[in-house]
Amino acid sequence: MQPVTKLPKVGTTIFAVMSQLAARHGAVNLGQGFPDFPVPDRLIQALDRAMRDGHNQYAMMTGVPALRQAIADKTADCHGWRPDVDAEITVTSGASEAIFDAIHAVVRAGEEVIVLDPCYDCYEPAIDLAGARAVHVALDPVTFAPDWDKVRAAITPKTRMLMINSPHNPSGAMFSAADMQAVIDLLRDTGIFLLSDEVYEHIVFDGARHESALLYPELRDRAFVISSFGKTYHCTGWKVGYCIAPPALSVEFRKVHQYNTFCTFTPAQFAFAEMIATDPDHYRQLGAFYQAKRDRFRAQLEGTKLKPLPVPGGYFQLVDYSAVSDLDDLEFSRWLTIEHGVTGIPLSPFYAQPSAEQRLLRLCFAKGDTTLNQAIERLSKL
Ligand code: PMP
Ligand code: GLN
Repeated sequence: MQPVTKLPKVGTTIFAVMSQLAARHGAVNLGQGFPDFPVPDRLIQALDRAMRDGHNQYAMMTGVPALRQAIADKTADCHGWRPDVDAEITVTSGASEAIFDAIHAVVRAGEEVIVLDPCYDCYEPAIDLAGARAVHVALDPVTFAPDWDKVRAAITPKTRMLMINSPHNPSGAMFSAADMQAVIDLLRDTGIFLLSDEVYEHIVFDGARHESALLYPELRDRAFVISSFGKTYHCTGWKVGYCIAPPALSVEFRKVHQYNTFCTFTPAQFAFAEMIATDPDHYRQLGAFYQAKRDRFRAQLEGTKLKPLPVPGGYFQLVDYSAVSDLDDLEFSRWLTIEHGVTGIPLSPFYAQPSAEQRLLRLCFAKGDTTLNQAIERLSKL
């Protein structure tokens, strides 16, 4: 039988495609975003202990209480506001599950969701599967700042959700306090929910403040705020994330979550609970940890023809390759992998309407020095 696809625009994700190509050609993989250095030993030990202590059966649907408590404490520590442990926090199988659940909890067939391009690739398929339509508003092609007049112009009576992401993947751009005020003004007196994807919340540089939606009571009231331990604890393969949302939104969110996954890998929930409680400095110092990597990598890039763009947050460096090649970004990333042994991620898959002129590649610097040195050695020959 041949099914009629429900997702005609979707192929295999660019992350899987580029990782496969990197493996086939023995390239240094700075494409798919994942650290190549170890998970903190304390976390591994806590995971091992959780399994040996017998925490191997279904967790509570909403998440292990100790982890929800730790998330509430961490949120209070970071944002000066404490979500309710029982009514407002749900642990999910990665941020990806939380994004899917939030969209399906409140967005109906025929409605619209505004996304800001370039946007992370799992947003639109989830919107499509809900029978809704993604309305794409482009960020500035150079600064990746939002144009709030354009966003306002995209709002219609059908708009049910606005999705934002700061620090931003793929650009590293961050929302300012003025941007958050613009979101508040835009959504006031509307029935539009906010989905704030904050998976890089702790990876912010140069003394800047992460502008979480949780800092703003008016946004908090209508927001699903989503994060991921994969980014914060160097374990993207564990796929544990969470959603903070007001009680009424969490009720609807959990209706989807309970029949999507029901619960998330139990031992890891115990391990994260212990890690957050006993070593809060890990997330407090993550910005400094990655800032050192960013600065070192950018200094190394000075010795290549690639022009690095500013990186306010996150663990991706955009580089302008127009001094090297006039190929479009899909072809350039293939060429760079096959001919020069370095893999990055093209930006065009993150756009509904990719620009014909943009010559940018995303390089992940969540890597050890040896990996980055090897990449730079190859890139300096371009
Ligand atoms: N949102 C963004 C912006 C991401 O970069 C990622 C993963 N890299 C996710 C969501 C998904 O996170 P997870 O792996 O926890 O599902
Ligand atoms: N979020 C990761 C990135 O941006 C990729 C995750 C995935 O491969 N699904 O690179």
